Amino acid sequence: MAWKFVVGGISHETNSFSPIETRLAHFKERGYLCGEGLLNGFAGTKTPMGGFIDFARETSSKLIPTVSASAVPSGLVTKEAYLQLKKELLDGIEKAGKIDGVLLALHGAMVAQGFPDVEGDILSSVRQIVGPKVVVVSPLDFHATVTDLMVEEADGLFGYNTYPHVDGYERALEAGRFAVKMLRKEISPTSVVVRPPLSPGVVPARTGWGPIKELMDQAFELEKQPGVINVSVYGGFVYSDVYDAGMALLVTTDGDSRRARDLAQTMAEKAWRLRHSFVTDMKKPMDAVKYALRQTRGPIVLADVADNTGGGASGDGTELLRALMEQKAQEAVVVTIPDKEAVERAFSLGVGGKFDGMLGGKFDDLHGDPVHVKGTVKILSDGIFVHKGPMSTGIKSSMGRAAVIRCGGIEIIVNERRFQPIDPEAARSLGIDPASKKIVVVKSSVHYRASYEPIAREIIEVDGPGLSSPNLSRFEFKNIRRPIFPIDDDSQIGDPFPRV
Ligand SMILES: [Zn+2]
Repeated sequence: MAWKFVVGGISHETNSFSPIETRLAHFKERGYLCGEGLLNGFAGTKTPMGGFIDFARETSSKLIPTVSASAVPSGLVTKEAYLQLKKELLDGIEKAGKIDGVLLALHGAMVAQGFPDVEGDILSSVRQIVGPKVVVVSPLDFHATVTDLMVEEADGLFGYNTYPHVDGYERALEAGRFAVKMLRKEISPTSVVVRPPLSPGVVPARTGWGPIKELMDQAFELEKQPGVINVSVYGGFVYSDVYDAGMALLVTTDGDSRRARDLAQTMAEKAWRLRHSFVTDMKKPMDAVKYALRQTRGPIVLADVADNTGGGASGDGTELLRALMEQKAQEAVVVTIPDKEAVERAFSLGVGGKFDGMLGGKFDDLHGDPVHVKGTVKILSDGIFVHKGPMSTGIKSSMGRAAVIRCGGIEIIVNERRFQPIDPEAARSLGIDPASKKIVVVKSSVHYRASYEPIAREIIEVDGPGLSSPNLSRFEFKNIRRPIFPIDDDSQIGDPFPRV
């Protein structure tokens, strides 16, 4: 039987501490597709939408596209932008008539003005339209804030198993296949979420290493048990600063809610026991550059983990560039510094022109001051490239117009748009191969690892200023429930799971 599904998604990872308001224009600039354009734009990509499209093909289902909108992580989404996108999604669902299911690609950590739980609001609004019998599912980002409302309103939520996120496509396939099983009445799922008082920074919560790896491995083991449909481990996104932000363990079983609760509780207790292993060993910018210069061979990747646009930081932080310049680094590249003004100037100078101006540190005063750069414009580009690494594979991205400015032994990529340069293709599209450099500065917390680990001789995480810093003492939290580790310490929290 051919099923009929509506497909759509609104996605944003909101950093409440960022002063950059997220408006409709930011969604339109980064990724806004509707109608047939949505299906054409994502066909063949390894993304959640690409997963839904392939799922529909494999089951001969009909997909009715609505809207897909995502913006680069930044501050609160304006109420106007959120309500507009929600309206487009809900109108599309209403217009679709009789349907069997709704396939959503939500992020999970979106916060809009007046809407601390956007995904809960979207799911309950969708449910109100379609009623209890239509299946509603969504994959969720590993950084989702999973609320009770979301779990209540959706039939199934499927957290990414990876950070760097390389399985959004697979989780969408899983969600689609789950929906079909429900429609065939082969399963009768029930889900329970448990949130331990734990909300680590993003850097130590990557999935290939340490405590999250241990939790993921256990989740995979549990998923092999009969009757267990899905066990998702969420690292959460502490910078969202909403009441429920932080880790969440979500278990879906086939009709056994008590078992779902027991398993989620067991996983939450394990996460709590592992809390002290969410640690990051970081070097200050000056020390990181000094260390890299002492090495005989590269590339030494200096990850500016606190200035990750993917975590809502501005991306135009300057502390590592300043350290490279002061220590007269050679064979170094900075990927990237978004600075429209500098790009404009580079384009007006042309290739070979002498650049003399202030660079970076312009979005806010949280990521270092502008740096005076004197150099030569080497390359100018439209800034368009295709992701070839394991993340966002096949997606065409634009960093806005871009220029390479050479300043002594340092090449600096400046570009117009805030974006996370997770893929070396961004630099390669400008004629720079990071694999051939001694020092590579990358503005990313964890995602760069998927493409940079295979080419890096060594990776150093740098403790610079910025809104994605794992050093949580740099932030003043207002809304997250307290006490919570590591913002509060053990003595303030006590034992959250007392044995009775
Ligand atoms: Zn994420």
